[in-house]
Amino acid sequence: MIKVIGFDLDGTLAGEEFDKIIWNEEIPKLYAKKNKLSIEDAKTKVYADYFKAKYIENVPEWTNIEYWFKRFGLENGWNKLLEDVKGKIYLYSETVKVLKKLSKYKRVIVSNSHPHFLSMKLKIEGLSQYFNEIISTPTFHHKKKSKHLFKDLLGHWGIKPEEMAFVGNDYEEDYENPSAVGIHAFFLDREKKEKGDNIVCDLNEFVEKVRGIQKTVKPQKSMWSAGGKLALKEILEDLRDESA
Ligand SMILES: [Mg+2]
Repeated sequence: MIKVIGFDLDGTLAGEEFDKIIWNEEIPKLYAKKNKLSIEDAKTKVYADYFKAKYIENVPEWTNIEYWFKRFGLENGWNKLLEDVKGKIYLYSETVKVLKKLSKYKRVIVSNSHPHFLSMKLKIEGLSQYFNEIISTPTFHHKKKSKHLFKDLLGHWGIKPEEMAFVGNDYEEDYENPSAVGIHAFFLDREKKEKGDNIVCDLNEFVEKVRGIQKTVKPQKSMWSAGGKLALKEILEDLRDESA
């Protein structure tokens, strides 16, 4: 029986343009201006530093924009940049509908996004109201969505792996790692390049998969015993959801 449904955020619930513009365009632009470089040279330098921070220096704060403004000595406030670009944040067309359909579950976001970015994105279309908990891996003492993180989360909620479903658009972090610890994980491939039982092309398809898992869990007792009443309640909720 599924109890918790987890979602990645960027590329899953919301588009990724906001992050791309900030990291790939705006920060190099500010860096170029400060150091009087061409935009191409600034990009080379800035991208190399991102790589170094993540893979060589193991900077725990490597997704924190405040850290990068300090490291690069940029004068304009990071808050102002986020404000200027916030118009680029959007949710996918099916996001809110799907979250409403799954309202009987505990719904959570598990994202590598730093809280400075998360708080901005959660305001769009009132996204935060659909979630019981938001996990930002950097503040949960993890650098990314590793197997270890998913094990910690199961412990945090006191659930078994088979009681959780998860979906996201990163093959390793959102699919392989949660799958490896026994979570019902699904890879979201919006471009429809991949095929398989655990691959979905949008969130509506993910809802179908969750329902499929629930249907394979048979009620243990007769419909009319104490446990049976619970089973009946589940069936009625499913009927309501199907017609939503
Ligand atoms: Mg993602």
